[in-house]
Amino acid sequence: MRDIRQLHPQLQLKIAELKALCDKVGLKMVIGECLRTVAEQDALYAQGRTRPGIRVTNAPGRTYSSQHQWGIAFDFYRGDGKGAYDDSDNFFGRVGALAKQIGLGWGGDWKSPVDKPHVYLPQWGSTTSVLRSTYGTPDKFIRTWDRAVLNFRIGGRYRTTKPCYLRLSPAGKKLAYKDAPEHIKAKSTKKGGKVSLKKGAGFVLTEVVGRKGDIWGRMKTGYWVPLRYRGIPRARPKK
Ligand SMILES: [Zn+2]
Repeated sequence: MRDIRQLHPQLQLKIAELKALCDKVGLKMVIGECLRTVAEQDALYAQGRTRPGIRVTNAPGRTYSSQHQWGIAFDFYRGDGKGAYDDSDNFFGRVGALAKQIGLGWGGDWKSPVDKPHVYLPQWGSTTSVLRSTYGTPDKFIRTWDRAVLNFRIGGRYRTTKPCYLRLSPAGKKLAYKDAPEHIKAKSTKKGGKVSLKKGAGFVLTEVVGRKGDIWGRMKTGYWVPLRYRGIPRARPKK
């Protein structure tokens, strides 16, 4: 199915980011296949085996071994009229490089099969084995998704609505005041030796992740700030 709204919310954010990057350099990338059902995966697996066509996948439906079945991958093609899969000018490699630049995985790096139109969220590895052993079925995995991350926009300007500790990773260690750069100190107070970003401090969002009910955002400086913490919003768009 070609519906990006069925994909993992973090991947939806990344798609918006990737599209903007592609537009900037004149690569007309179009989103194709997104989430795939068991029946759709079986039909694809049959191609080149019990049905005509060339083999395009090694993953039968019930094994849940395609990333598409977990909503963490999409395929793309070119939409500039040169032929959807024309790669004479390394179109797919250039889009793949941009995808990797923003932290996505690219099927063009795979060995068998090499899958240049395939892009995925890499935090569970390059196969589905971690997802299968952790969640069992895609349904159970999809129930853990936090769609509230879609309320935020990568590249957008935000301000804090409360004082916030800065962290070195999502929910990770707090930034020590003595380690903070001057421009961070300028909009913070020292609280228990840690940096507490003042209410109303502005920042540009470069990454958003949902974790155990909280939402964390990465600032341009690399530090992480809570966007929603214990149910309470901590940031809003800067007008
Ligand atoms: Zn794919």
